[in-house]
Amino acid sequence: MEFNKNFLRECDDDDDDDDDVGAELLKRGLWATLHCKQCNTVLGDSLAVCGELTCLDSIICCRVTNNVEVSSEMECGKKGQLANCIFSALLCSDCGCTVGKVVHAAPPRMAAVRSLFLLYKAHVTCYVLDRCSMVNASAMSFEMEPLMKSINEVKQHFELNFEHVKSCLAGIRGKLDE
Ligand SMILES: [Zn+2]
Repeated sequence: MEFNKNFLRECDDDDDDDDDVGAELLKRGLWATLHCKQCNTVLGDSLAVCGELTCLDSIICCRVTNNVEVSSEMECGKKGQLANCIFSALLCSDCGCTVGKVVHAAPPRMAAVRSLFLLYKAHVTCYVLDRCSMVNASAMSFEMEPLMKSINEVKQHFELNFEHVKSCLAGIRGKLDE
């Protein structure tokens, strides 16, 4: 999949809606299930969340439950962020309400979300498992930590351990040589 790492940020800059200001970040290790706001049917979970598309006020998921139906009707976006995109609506199988979109085909600027499920934050609630509480998805932020940060942390950790192992081996060699 083509991926433009600046895409999400650009969309964010375009977004004049300040609803997410102060939204609590769904941190790593904080698990949640995503529900239809109208009927509480489970639509997905935080393990499948890939981030947030602020320009469409949506949670990006790589997987949803069988309770999410992809409409057989395909639409072509005429304006806005979905201009020239072909997409279908996502429906809650229980109450039939529209809970999001899946983009089937898109120009490069929207390539990052092609084939991913976009759940509208306004139509979703989250059950935060650790707190046993239900909150509106719009009160949460689903932004992901940049991958490079995690890679750098692993690299630093690896380098520290490598130095430790090296000094241990040097100590063992020294004793063997005695
Ligand atoms: Zn529903």
